[in-house]
Amino acid sequence: NVKWALLGASTIAGQYMVSAIRAQTDGAVRWVVSGKAERARAFAQAHRIERWSTSVEEALEDQAVQAVYISTTNEKHYPLAMAAIGAGKHVLCEKPLAMDAAEAAEMVSAARSAGVTLAVNHHLRSAGSHKAIRALITSGALGRVLSLRLFHAVHLPEHLRGWRLDNPSAGGGVIMDLTVHNADTVRFLLQEDPESVIAETATSGMGAGVEDSAMSVWTMPSGAMVFSHESFTHPFTESGIEVHGTQASVFARGVMAQEPLGRIELVSKQGRGEISFDAAEIYGSVIEDFQSAVARRASPAATGTDGAKSLMVARAVHDAARTGARQTINYGE
Ligand code: NDP
Repeated sequence: NVKWALLGASTIAGQYMVSAIRAQTDGAVRWVVSGKAERARAFAQAHRIERWSTSVEEALEDQAVQAVYISTTNEKHYPLAMAAIGAGKHVLCEKPLAMDAAEAAEMVSAARSAGVTLAVNHHLRSAGSHKAIRALITSGALGRVLSLRLFHAVHLPEHLRGWRLDNPSAGGGVIMDLTVHNADTVRFLLQEDPESVIAETATSGMGAGVEDSAMSVWTMPSGAMVFSHESFTHPFTESGIEVHGTQASVFARGVMAQEPLGRIELVSKQGRGEISFDAAEIYGSVIEDFQSAVARRASPAATGTDGAKSLMVARAVHDAARTGARQTINYGE
């Protein structure tokens, strides 16, 4: 029975992760920790969590706790993960794993030395839709992949229009929020790491002091071209993935989401056909794989290294837009 402490009384913890943990037969939520006593208490009450605290140390001292889920604002991911790893806990951390590559590398190496699992909640690779697209690519049905286009422009819901839009020191901006997801999606689908990026960003109605929109083009070792679009400000568009190969194209719509939604079509010489996929709860699958990793049966869906790499791509997109110069990504391998 894996007992968890939640570090962060966040929207995602309340909306998805508490129920995803509980849906696993061996998952239980024992603590919620928040910076504000009132929020911790209210969150614990709303979600029937036994213990709440404003002290991370108090929750980490609890020997019954084996795993923590970190979903605070982004600048706290690194110190909280280091504290949890230091206390011998397994860590499921929200994306972006950290604020920069140096922090992420330290987290990965600390977890390795401590012998604990460090995973990142790149939930999209746990979606049945993304697994189905990857299976089409690896089966060879597309032939050689020529290009991949990612459409991740959304309309940020009113209740999330806080630190994401005006607080760079908390890791605000669309790049730290959505480009990291796109980077992980591309790495998962093509099974290769972007080499370099060029990019433009914009502030198009919501961001104040941070970008709310980004477009970038990534160079891949295979020669496939990648285009990535993220935004907070688009009320009427739909998310999507297109993968174009020499033998067929995949058109997926509505699949960059928190729910197992969307539809996938394969177009080839044979015509156009719908591809079915497993519509299991996405975050439930993340927790299931994490708990297997804790039990040493498997790897988590996205490892700390995956989180470090998606962060490096996102930082490169940020730097490319700021400088106007192509950024080559050094993964330090
Ligand atoms: P929230 O803004 O809801 O929560 C972040 C922190 O802000 C909380 O930990 C809390 O601090 C504080 N907070 C929460 N509600 C309030 C409030 N009403 N007033 C003041 N402060 C508040 O963030 P999200 O849930 O949207 O995101 C949290 C993390 O999860 C981020 O790292 C984000 O990138 C990631 N995320 C990942 C998703 C995924 O699919 N993988 C989806 C959405 C987010 P305290 O803990 O001190 O109470």
